[in-house]
Amino acid sequence: MKATQILRTSKSDLKASTVHETFLLKGNFIQKLGAGIYQLMPLGFLAYQKIYEIIDEELKAIGFLSFRAPIVHPASIWEKSGRYDDFGPEMVKFKNRSAEKFVLAPTHEEPVNLIAKKLINSYKDLPLALNQIQTKFRDEPRARGGLIRLREFTMQDGYSFHTNQEDLDKFYNDVRAAYLRIFKRLGFEVKVVAATSGAMGGSGAEEFMILAQDGSDQIAICEKCDYAVNIETLVEGDAEVCEKCGGDLKMEKTIELGHIFKLGDKYTKAFELTYDNEKGEKKYPVSGCYGIGLERALASIVETHHDDKGIIWPSEVAPFDYYLIALGEKANEEAKKLYEKLAKEGKEILFDDRENSAGEKFADADLIGCPKRLVISDKTLANNQVEIKDRATGAIELKNLSEF
Ligand SMILES: [Zn+2]
Repeated sequence: MKATQILRTSKSDLKASTVHETFLLKGNFIQKLGAGIYQLMPLGFLAYQKIYEIIDEELKAIGFLSFRAPIVHPASIWEKSGRYDDFGPEMVKFKNRSAEKFVLAPTHEEPVNLIAKKLINSYKDLPLALNQIQTKFRDEPRARGGLIRLREFTMQDGYSFHTNQEDLDKFYNDVRAAYLRIFKRLGFEVKVVAATSGAMGGSGAEEFMILAQDGSDQIAICEKCDYAVNIETLVEGDAEVCEKCGGDLKMEKTIELGHIFKLGDKYTKAFELTYDNEKGEKKYPVSGCYGIGLERALASIVETHHDDKGIIWPSEVAPFDYYLIALGEKANEEAKKLYEKLAKEGKEILFDDRENSAGEKFADADLIGCPKRLVISDKTLANNQVEIKDRATGAIELKNLSEF
């Protein structure tokens, strides 16, 4: 990809309130349109797609089928679940020219239960797991701090349906394990925290949290056994000691990256979604729901992977494997050849072909944060070599051009 089209053209000393927003704006990954409303620019979309693919791959591997619900829903499906009035002011409601009522989807339990109703007739159709990665809109009163709390955002939201609680429990554990694999691949060290299921209804819920200085959530962690609990859940119990081992609890600021819930039969009942059991009796499936916010994950990767110069992408989500810089006429010719050779091998390279100074190119290589920076100059070419710098460790090595 040509750098001239995607890198910043002029210097800016822009400063946002959070680390991720500062670097993502400076690096032309994102653009702000309004409070809680951002667009992903070409560079940001590349990283976003990596996150998307990791999530999609891990969830398909445990049996999720993909679907896609609309963002605009007729109000009637929300009246059916009782949430048209219950959801609160975060849900945007509007009427069209014919005075028909609609909502902008803040979540998607309603339409997915209607899909499941079409697919489930008998116990033989269960379990069923459906997943989408789709836009949501919530009119957040506190939309600020970059991509952590957005009004319009993308969520992976998965839903599963089962004949009984044991089967739900088993699948819930599969999703839990898949989530841990996803977060590991995204470069996170997550804590799984017991949580209340709150507005979603149902019993049994856990959140996947990372510790972060700018985090807006709080958890209590046991200093002895590492048990962690959401602050809201803690209010219901003892705020001083661990309920598992009696150890002291310590408060930490966190960002919630994902949550998994056992919903029970709240929505299947609301939508009269039934299956026939082996005796031919009508029963309600029990269900679970599972969610990860994609822009929040992107922001949190930057919050936890940076230094004072810029982003340090984990290799699996880096928009490019290499940031290639050529210094001088002859070096430029060699760099073009190397670019084409690596591209043929399927490597992703950002070739900084701008007319900017070497200093500006080095600064942008650090800011953009690709795992490896390659430099070809008259000096390295004297020995037929390329300089390779590791963004994370800063280690520099020289490699012969012929070894690529
Ligand atoms: Zn403990």
